[in-house]
Amino acid sequence: MRYRHINNFISLARDRDSGRVFVDPETGEPRIEYSPSDFDRENNLEGIIGLAKIAYVGGATEIRAHIYGLPPFIPNASEQAKHVQDKDPEFTDAAFGKWLQHLRTLGNKPPVSAFGSAHQMGTCRMSASNESGVVDERGSVWGKKNLFVADSSVFPSASGVNPMVTVMSIADWISRGVSKEL
Ligand SMILES: Cc1cc2nc3c(=O)[nH]c(=O)nc-3n(C[C@H](O)[C@H](O)[C@H](O)COP(=O)(O)OP(=O)(O)OC[C@H]3O[C@@H](n4cnc5c(N)ncnc54)[C@H](O)[C@@H]3O)c2cc1C
Repeated sequence: MRYRHINNFISLARDRDSGRVFVDPETGEPRIEYSPSDFDRENNLEGIIGLAKIAYVGGATEIRAHIYGLPPFIPNASEQAKHVQDKDPEFTDAAFGKWLQHLRTLGNKPPVSAFGSAHQMGTCRMSASNESGVVDERGSVWGKKNLFVADSSVFPSASGVNPMVTVMSIADWISRGVSKEL
């Protein structure tokens, strides 16, 4: 009955450390090896704590973090109503502070915590020379004629912020170049 009152938020962080994609020696299929490093995991955890605080000051009646074994936090309404702007509720509401401490102690170590990834890019990176990438500044594949790439794979590196507008601009730039060439 209360489901329609739920809001979901995600803590989105640019990872510092990376994983790898490699060819499976047995099947020949591509395989991904990626576990968030302690540094990246902790950054993400800070994001989750920040989101819980936003939910608290926004008047949430129940806060659930996707941390295995962590019970939901149900704020005491009168404590929550005392919140003053620019004060950190972690230090003004003892029960909330204790819950956040519990969250920190449990942590977000894989595999029990859920991690997702949505902004993969740079697998055919645009480069100044054929040694450091796959396509030139026109999106043309080095050393091949009439083969262009015009999607997020030509990003020289991960942008670290939402990429869609950049994907569209690059596709626009490359397609205009192709059109001119034709
Ligand atoms: C859940 C989610 C949320 C996101 N939210 C945001 C956001 O809020 N803001 C933002 O900026 N970015 C967001 N992104 C990222 C953004 O959507 C992508 O970076 C962007 O769409 C990538 O564009 P693209 O053209 O490289 O690939 P895609 O948009 O994936 O386009 C690839 C196209 O190729 C087609 N295709 C695949 N194989 C073949 C084939 N063999 N033959 C013909 N066609 C094929 C696919 O059907 C698809 O249409 C989000 C991504 C995800 C997954």
